[in-house]
Formats: sequence, C-alpha cells, structure tokens
Amino acid sequence: MATIVILGAGLGGMPMAFELRETLSKDHRIVVVSDKDYFHFVPSNPWVAIGWREPEAIKIPLQSPLSGKGVELVVGAAQKVDPGANCIELHNGDSISYDHLIIATGPRLAFEEIPGLGPDGYTQSICHIDHAIKANQKWREFVDDPGPIVVGAVQGASCFGPAYEFAFIMDRDLRKRRIRDKVPMTFVTSEPYIGHLGLGGVGDSKGMLESQLRQRHIDWVCNAKVESVGENLMTVMEVDGDGENKQRRELPFKYAMMLPAFTGIDALRDVEGLVNPRGFVVIDKHQRNPTYPNVWGIGVAVAIAPRENTPVPTGVPKTGYMIESMATAVAKNIQATLAGADPKAEATWNAVCLADMGDTGIAFVAIPQLPPRNVNWMREGKWVHVAKVAFEKYFLLKIRKGSTEPLFERYILKAFGIERLKAPS
Ligand code: FAD
Repeated sequence: MATIVILGAGLGGMPMAFELRETLSKDHRIVVVSDKDYFHFVPSNPWVAIGWREPEAIKIPLQSPLSGKGVELVVGAAQKVDPGANCIELHNGDSISYDHLIIATGPRLAFEEIPGLGPDGYTQSICHIDHAIKANQKWREFVDDPGPIVVGAVQGASCFGPAYEFAFIMDRDLRKRRIRDKVPMTFVTSEPYIGHLGLGGVGDSKGMLESQLRQRHIDWVCNAKVESVGENLMTVMEVDGDGENKQRRELPFKYAMMLPAFTGIDALRDVEGLVNPRGFVVIDKHQRNPTYPNVWGIGVAVAIAPRENTPVPTGVPKTGYMIESMATAVAKNIQATLAGADPKAEATWNAVCLADMGDTGIAFVAIPQLPPRNVNWMREGKWVHVAKVAFEKYFLLKIRKGSTEPLFERYILKAFGIERLKAPS
C-alpha cells in the first residue's frame, strides 16, 4: 500500500485527488494537504471584485467532497518540503510522510518585487478570494468618487487573460452605472504587444483585443516595467524592442489592479534539484521531477520555459484545462509506477480559455499551447459570457460531486479535437 500526498487543493489539486481515487485501487491511501479548509474557484475572482458574485457562491468546504470519495484531508500549511526524507513539514510542527508527492500549490504572488504593489500597498489584486473581497470594498468606494484607472500585468507576469477580463468587466460595470465618462482607463502590460498573452498570441488576439480596447476607450502601454506605485501614482518605464528605456510615464490613478509576477511557494524555495531559481517545480514530459522521481508537479507550481525572450520579461500562462490534463497524466503515471512500469502518459498542455468581458467575451483554443500550432483559434461573442457563467456552475458542481471528466465533457471536447493526453507514439 502506498501513500500519495497531494499538496494544495485548488484548481489542480482537487481534480487530481478525484482522478487519482478513480484510477488507483482502494488499498492506496490518498491524502490532500491544504493550508485552507475550502476550495475557491479562482477564475470567478474578477466577478467577486466587481460585486457580481458573492464570495460564498464560489467557495466549497473541502471535507465533504474529499471524504465522500475516500480521500483524507489534512488542513495545514506546508513549511518545508523535504524530498530527500520523503516528507512535508507543516507550520504546526506536524510532519507528513509520503511514497509519492504531487505538488499543486499554485503561485506565490511576488508583490514585494515592486515597491507599493499589491493589497498591502496601493494596487488591488484578484488572484485570491480574500484579495478580491478587499478589491470589491475599494471598488464600492471608487464608484462613489470615480477617477482614473490603471489595470494590467507587471514584468515577469505570466497570467495576462484575467488582466484583460478585469479591464473589460470594470468598463462594463462603469457603463451600467453611467459613470464611465468620468473614468480614463489605461491598460499597462509587460507583453510586447496587446494580445500576446505570454503565448506569442493566439489567432488574431492582437487585432481583436486592440479593437476591443479601442472600442471601450481604454488606452494601453506595452513593453512596460512598473518601477513603483505610490498612493495615487504608478511610475512605469516603457522600453523599446531591444529592451532599452524609451519613456518614463507617471500614471495617476484612483483605482489600480495589476497582476503580479508569480514564484513557487516558500516551502519549495531553494530545494536543490526540485525547483528552478524562481521556485517552480522542475518536471519532465511525464510531469515528474528528474531528481526525485516520486515527486510530481501540476498547475501553476510547475516550471515552463517561456517560448521567446520578450523586451520585458513575461512568463507562460498555465490555464485550467491544461492543468486538468496534467492531473490526468500524473494519475496514469503514478498508477504505472506503482505497478512497476515506466510512466508513459503525457499531458497535451492545450490552452482552452473563456475570457469574460462583462456582456460579451473572447474564447480561444491553442493546440498545442505554444506556436507553431495545429489549432490557433480565437472568437468574440455574447455566447462566451454565457458559456463562462455556465462553466463556473459546472466546475463547482464537479468539485462538490467529486467527479473528474464526465462522459459528455469528454465527447464535446473530443469533437473540437481537444484531448487531455497525447496519443501514444
Ligand atoms: P491554485 O488554484 O492557486 O491552488 C493552489 C492551492 O495550494 C491553493 O488551494 C492554496 O491554498 C494551496 N497552497 C498554497 N500554499 C500552500 C502551502 N504552503 N501549504 C498547503 N497548501 C498550500 N485559467 C483558465 O483556464 N481560465 C480562467 O478563466 C482563469 N482565470 C484566472 C483568473 C485569475 C484571477 C487567476 C490568478 C488565474 C486564472 N486562471 C484561469 C489560471 C489558472 O487556471 C488558475 O490560476 C488556477 O487557480 C491555477 O490552479 P493551481 O491548482 O495551479 O493553483
């Protein structure tokens, strides 16, 4: 009997637990270790920040769905992962041993890299539900006394979609309130061009997103390095194509939200052979760490090299469906390993995304995630907004019920040519 520990119970960790339980025989123990006793659906945080969603509507207590499937839960924050000793030390002094460890701890938000950035400084965040709640308090004050908005993603960021989403959602909310005319908006991004998305663009994302920003009177600054943020002022250096300083801009704001750069969590930092210098778990094509073959990584926690050097550093996003495909691959590979075979499953890492824009939205499919691609598709339409709301309900139901990939989901995605695992070669 083996003990498999999943560290983190987010968008990756929860499907991982269910998938593993379905794949392995019941004599293997599966344990989820989470610093929170609830799951929250990160993609809905922009709606919480604007007041379109109550926080409780996107939170699910972990105990019931996990115990219902025969998965143990330990609520406690990891302080140090010790892969040499096959154990995790928790902040409360406990230690948890494992035969296999799956790291699904998502990002640490590196606000400290820019003075004044983040909820303890002067900009809001939508990365965690607690931040989104705070951002909503600030938003309610802001709409009573509106002024300029700065929104976007800083140098080193990898998650650009939610920055665009939040810009468009704020625009929609302000128009509904009939105060959009009082709010100059600027989109500030480290991307080399609008719609790059850390992916080298998808379909005509450049043209499409530029057009959407123009239609909504949102100005933009690309190749932007945020130098510092003060109480109502963001200082940004715009660089040219060679990364040389071009123009320093002082952008006043009354409300600002900037996606930060991510790193791996503290419990992983500096573990020789396990992580890269930013603390992301190094994995091979089977999602397995080469130094510690009983350690696996999924989700935002894993290291993926950027496709290209951009004038201002940008990272590659790790999106929901891609993360679920990593979980499927790990479940199959641990099953093989426990049976004494070599891991063979490889996640497809396809990017399938729905970005809400308040009343309309943009959907994209990138197969594979980085160019050149077999499928490179982006569309705009009101149906995307509807689909995103439906997807939120559907995903929360999947977590409550502990299901993995119901048959109809498999068939719908297959019809679009989207599969979780690469076909065996
Ligand atoms: P998370 O979901 O963040 O889960 C990590 C878990 O680990 C958390 O439960 C955390 O509490 C736990 N943890 C952290 N540290 C410790 C510790 N020391 N000990 C124990 N537990 C710990 N992708 C899409 O495909 N579509 C979208 O619409 C979309 N929207 C997004 C919107 C936002 C605002 C953001 C930030 C990302 C979005 N993404 C989206 C990208 C991605 O899908 C999410 O970031 C997703 O939540 C990543 O899943 P994860 O499991 O890697 O990390």
